[in-house]
Amino acid sequence: MKVKVAGTAGFCWGVQRALRALDSARAGSPPPSADGGRLLTWGALVYNGPVLLNLQDRSIASVDSAEQVKPGDRVLTRPHGMVEADRAAIAGKGGTVLDATCPHVAETRKTILRLAGEGRNLLVAGNREHDEVRTLLDGLPVKSWVISSAEEARTVAAEEPLALVSQSTFGPALLEDVEEAVRDRYPNVEIHRTLCGSTEDRQDETRGLAAEADVLVVVGPYHSGNARRLAEMCRETGKQTFHVEVPEDLPLPSLLEQARLARRQALMEKYAEDPDRLREATSDPARLDAEVVIGVTAGASTPPWVLQAVIDHVLSGTKAELVRGLPRDLAADRASGAKS
Ligand code: SF4
Repeated sequence: MKVKVAGTAGFCWGVQRALRALDSARAGSPPPSADGGRLLTWGALVYNGPVLLNLQDRSIASVDSAEQVKPGDRVLTRPHGMVEADRAAIAGKGGTVLDATCPHVAETRKTILRLAGEGRNLLVAGNREHDEVRTLLDGLPVKSWVISSAEEARTVAAEEPLALVSQSTFGPALLEDVEEAVRDRYPNVEIHRTLCGSTEDRQDETRGLAAEADVLVVVGPYHSGNARRLAEMCRETGKQTFHVEVPEDLPLPSLLEQARLARRQALMEKYAEDPDRLREATSDPARLDAEVVIGVTAGASTPPWVLQAVIDHVLSGTKAELVRGLPRDLAADRASGAKS
């Protein structure tokens, strides 16, 4: 058996950058006192249980209200940014904001401010509850509407002149449908593609991996939009997909059974016209096993050590050989001290 790991699996560069900012802020920090001087994150830095536990172990708490901030505290923003009212409230409490907004999100915000300055109202393809969307639309002097589907684009009561942008992680195919629906209703809309390349690369590579693999393992929090999207994309290819958060979630016997079934099915299709070749290819279980490919990918909020633990679990439980991997950033993440 072979295990192939997507090179784009795991933390995106925006998350890596925020974790590095946290490490730099922590290095050489004076010990916090009960009266303040703590290093805090604004909400969950990354929606991932093991990462949050790791931060807890390092005594880095998260707060979600300025009421919890004390004088001298330093509060790191999420990669999705922070609205001005929260920045002001933290400053009002004597805290300092450390800005870890992802440069891609900051760039989209700049584009939106320019469009608003030109008097264009904004349509945003995304999730209105998401922090990134709140940051993007914060305090605009124009009207804005958030839409999450082509259906919503067909019914939204927007007012021209209009511009359309998207949340960085919106699905590319879904965005095309939304753009088409918006263009039908508002032919003069100005469309700006603001998807994150990191997300698109990850999705493209996952599609390629799904084409090669017999079964797929997607590592990432169950509530993470981008990990769920990766799992959905894998399932859309008809491949059995296991979405797991940690190694213990992965049922190895079922993974093995599904992988062998899928490989046998693929060989039956390949040699449908050649029964001798089919018999030769499928009669020897060891030979069949040698052909099995297990694909592994991970969402943008999955830390390298969790991904590595899942890969190790698959390798030890299946006796498979790692023929492609590890993700290019794995070593760099470790070196940055993301876990330590
Ligand atoms: S997904 Fe893209 S935009 Fe979002 S934090 Fe990561 S790099 Fe930045």
